[in-house]
Amino acid sequence: MASGNPFFDDMQSKPEVIDLTQNEDIVDCESVDGPIQPAIKPNVTVSSNVRELLECPVCLNAMYPPIHQCSNGHTLCSGCKPRVHNRCPTCRHELGNIRCLALEKVAASLELPCTYQSFGCIGVYPYYSKLKHESQCSYRPYSCPYAGSECTVIGDIPHLVAHLKDDHKVDMHNGCTFNHRYVKSNPHEVENATWMLTVFSCFGQYFCLHFEAFQLGISPVYIAFLRFMGDDNEAKNYSYSLEVGGNGRKMIWQGVPRSIRDSHRKVRDSFDGLLIQRNMALFFSGGDRKELKLRVTGRIWREQ
Ligand SMILES: [Zn+2]
Ligand SMILES: [Zn+2]
Ligand SMILES: [Zn+2]
Ligand SMILES: [Zn+2]
Repeated sequence: MASGNPFFDDMQSKPEVIDLTQNEDIVDCESVDGPIQPAIKPNVTVSSNVRELLECPVCLNAMYPPIHQCSNGHTLCSGCKPRVHNRCPTCRHELGNIRCLALEKVAASLELPCTYQSFGCIGVYPYYSKLKHESQCSYRPYSCPYAGSECTVIGDIPHLVAHLKDDHKVDMHNGCTFNHRYVKSNPHEVENATWMLTVFSCFGQYFCLHFEAFQLGISPVYIAFLRFMGDDNEAKNYSYSLEVGGNGRKMIWQGVPRSIRDSHRKVRDSFDGLLIQRNMALFFSGGDRKELKLRVTGRIWREQ
């Protein structure tokens, strides 16, 4: 963690929880199903040698048509071909423009398990449609939803929840209502502050509450929004509301949590949350505009 950088320092300020007594809708959060280990189909082991043949010697990715070869028969993927300056990377001979139709046909006859087998996908796909499936496979791992860090951890939801708890030390809360206070002693220093993420467990699911300041044009604004730890089609089953106010005024946001498949930045930049101008935020904070003291209350519910 870089010290002296206000951005990272800000991530350490935790929102203050003032009331969590209204947990009437808690559902056991331990009941999230773990991945099912699928049986490996016998034809898969037979084809593993062929799979090695289909690995590009340069980028080591699986090759897709057109697959190229040199006059000595060494193969190369079409992505790497323009980068090797017409020299075979294996034997250094001139590459020319020879396609390896035999290997392309062998590939077409292959059926391979989804790459995310270990995450629970039991699908087996023809070689050429495997990539398309994998780009949408519901078992594909999620990226860590923690904002503002370069975290590269991926995994299924139970894994990421444990990671958020253990490695990012996020606040975990049971229940579907919340009441947080976000405090910053010098709000004029805030340019891209991110407060500690809060993770809620309710309805047997996990939700991430983000709150941060960012620069919109020339003026700083605050945004609060919720992300769902799961896929988009499931996120749509939930709604949430956020309220912030003070001095007799109140702003209310109602929204649908976004899947963590959508990056934190993407959600923020589409303003899909409760946006508070700094002037308004300072007004809500009361006092002499020297301190940011926002009380954000909210609720998550399941749509019928
Ligand atoms: Zn390649
Ligand atoms: Zn060659
Ligand atoms: Zn899959
Ligand atoms: Zn992480």
